[in-house]
Parts: sequence; structure tokens; C-alpha cells
Amino acid sequence: MSNYKIETKCVQGGYTPGNGEPRQIPIIQSTTFKYASSADMGKLFDLEASGYFYTRLQNPTNDSVAAKICDMEGGTAAMLTSSGQAASFFAVFNIASCGDHVVASSTIYGGTYNLFAVTLKRMGIDFTFVSPDCTDEELNAAFRENTKAVFGETIANPALTVLDIERFAKAAHAHGVPLIIDNTFATPVNCRPFEWGADIVTHSTTKYMDGHGAAVGGCIVDSGKFDWTKYPEKFAGLCTPDESYHGVTYTERFGLEGAFITKATAQLMRDFGAIQAPQNAFLLNLGLESLHVRMKRHCENGLAVAKFLKNDPRVTWVTYPGLEGDRYYELAQKYMPNGTCGVVSFGVKGGREAAERFMGNLKIAAIETHVADARTCCLHPASATHRQMNEEELVAAGISGDLVRFSCGIENSDDLIADIDQALAASQMG
Ligand SMILES: *Cc1c(COP(=O)(O)O)cnc(C)c1O
Repeated sequence: MSNYKIETKCVQGGYTPGNGEPRQIPIIQSTTFKYASSADMGKLFDLEASGYFYTRLQNPTNDSVAAKICDMEGGTAAMLTSSGQAASFFAVFNIASCGDHVVASSTIYGGTYNLFAVTLKRMGIDFTFVSPDCTDEELNAAFRENTKAVFGETIANPALTVLDIERFAKAAHAHGVPLIIDNTFATPVNCRPFEWGADIVTHSTTKYMDGHGAAVGGCIVDSGKFDWTKYPEKFAGLCTPDESYHGVTYTERFGLEGAFITKATAQLMRDFGAIQAPQNAFLLNLGLESLHVRMKRHCENGLAVAKFLKNDPRVTWVTYPGLEGDRYYELAQKYMPNGTCGVVSFGVKGGREAAERFMGNLKIAAIETHVADARTCCLHPASATHRQMNEEELVAAGISGDLVRFSCGIENSDDLIADIDQALAASQMG
């Protein structure tokens, strides 16, 4: 980890070319890598030497970009994945398997909720969902003998709840398990969860990090701080020999700083192959180079839009953690004093139908499932991303029929507000 400030890390981190080498990260568009002897290659397969052999597991372009995100988060090791979903899956499945249990915040992203509550459940992993606002008693009561991790989002998409990372980390550690934080919405520009006790961070790099709607991707970063060896039976996969890798014990060979990511690469990338394309990693890096500049504007626009909505009688409620008076304002000030994100949620007066009319009349803001893009986009979750949830699940996830998720881009805020203003006028004409 370098000592540079976050802005410098965004631009300079991860890749330092030598004399006469390309200034920009080279795209290593190669599935495979050549060796002089079988013995040389054998050492790679035994994880005795480090090097590349097949892009399903690792690629130099990806590793340079992962190193930058690792530096930005203040971690010790990181890997890129093909999507944010793959990052969430790997982060959990690397330490939990059939018969295990995980505690998760109930307001997590809908895709992650499905992954956990449906697909990982089918793989034999049980989840207990707790409100991010639960009491310490409720949180502690969620743990079981077989609990392997706690999972939450810094700022939840789209509920915009803010997780008290320090409190959740303390509870996780008291029960001998790591806290995994999905830091997609805050980005390491605005919040670095490791500074508050989180152990693993995941990202959908598809969002602000790429920022241009160009490439789907994900990332996992390890803080290197969680001591798996204190609980060798609970984390047997990290602390006992891996027969599928010639008896390597990850914590012994790679230390606390490298065990988690090496295991996820050696086992999960090998077997599931959710690698990010090197082309996409290159695009992601272009986004990272301006992330700090864009996040500032996203947050300024988010706050301007939130303030406008707050005073508008055609709007029944506004949620924006950066807005004074918001339920999460104090927590946001603690964890993200320089800004939260560009996403604002609000309720259109008149409920579901009015919200749909509002959506239909927007001119700048495009209707997309996407969010956190340089271009403003907008979504009505109840009729789109969350439509498979029943009413009870919607309430638990913090989604109501009138909820509009408005993702402020980096355009001029006057233009965004004028667009909202005219669409709100149309929304009331039902
Ligand atoms: C989009 C998103 C994901 C899933 O990421 P993909 O890149 O779409 O697979 C996970 N978590 C959060 C918070 C997201 O916004």
C-alpha cells in the first residue's frame, strides 16, 4: 500500500512502468503464457512460483487494475471478477459452504439478495437477514455455531441505508467471523471500510468505478487483517492443506495478507472461471483514473437534487444520506464526511401510477436498470429490478411502490432539476 492520498492512488496506483515500457496498462490479450520447460510450469501449478499460465485464473492486465483498487482500499491483496455478482459469490463461498450460515443486512442490493436467499441457499448455505438498524441484541442473536461471515453494504442500493460498519465489525469479530462490505456505492474515494474494521471489501466495478456504462465487472479486496488461524476449524479451507492444490495450506504459504485472495483465485477462479476480460479491466482502469473527480460531481448533483425534492409538494419523501435531516445523515457524516454518492431515492405523490408517469416523462434521465453512471439514469424498482419480491420482502428491502431511484450523473445540476421538475408536473396529471 502506498502513502499517497486517494486522488493520487486513483491516477497512479497499481502500475508503474519501467524504462521504455508502455505508459498505459497494456492489454494482455492472451489466453495463455509460454514456458521453457514443463518443470517451470509445474512450479506454477503447485503455487511454488508466481506467474501466469492461463487467463481463466489470472491475467497481468487484471492484476495491475486489481492492485490499484487494493491500494485505494488500503488492502493487502485483490482480484478482479467478471461481475459484482461474481465478487459477492466468491467472497462468501470462499469461506462458507454447504451446512454453513451467514448473517447479512436485509437492505442489500436485490441481485445479492437473490444470490444469497435463493441460489446459495440451494447450495446449502443459510442466511439470516437483519435490519441495518437492528439493535446489538438482535444482531448478536442472528449468529449461530456455523456462522462464517457477516455481509452488508456501506450505502445500500437502492434503499440508501448506511451501515454502521464499526458496530457490525465489532459484532462479527466477537463471534470470530469477518465482516464483508460491498463498497460499490461509496467507492474508496468516499469510504474505506477497512479503516472501520471491515475485513473484506467487494465491488461491482460496473458502477462508479467504470462510471461510463462500458464494462461489467467486480473486485474483491482483502484487508489481510482477519486472523483465520485463530479459528482453524471454522476456516478449515484456509488453514488446512488443499488436496486439490497439492496440499498447499493457504495461510501458511501466503500469510494472512495473501491467503484469502490466493484461495479464491486457485479454487474458485479455477473451477468457476468468472474472470474479467483484460479489455474490460483496461476500460475499468480508465474509469478509475477519474473516479475522484467524478465522485465529487456525482455527490454535488445528488445533494442539489435531494434539496430540490425535499421542498417539493409533489414528492412525499426523499432519502439521501448526504441530506441534513436524513435518517442516516449522522452515520453518513461519520463514514463519508466528503460525500456519499449520486443516488437519491424519493416517493412520487400519487404512488405507483404517478411514479410510472414520472418515469415516462423524463427527458435527460434515461430509464435503465443501471446506476452510478456519468449519465443520469432512473429506475422504478418495484416494477423492474425487485419485481420478483413479494410485498413483505419489498418492505424488508426498503422498497415501496412509489419509490424512484434517481442516479445523478455528472451533468449540470440545473438541467437535471429542470428535467425532474417537468416530469413531476406530468406525474400529477393522472
Ligand atoms: C450492481 C451491484 C451489484 C452487482 O454487480 P454486477 O456488476 O451488476 O454484477 C452488487 N452490489 C451492488 C451494491 C450493486 O449496485
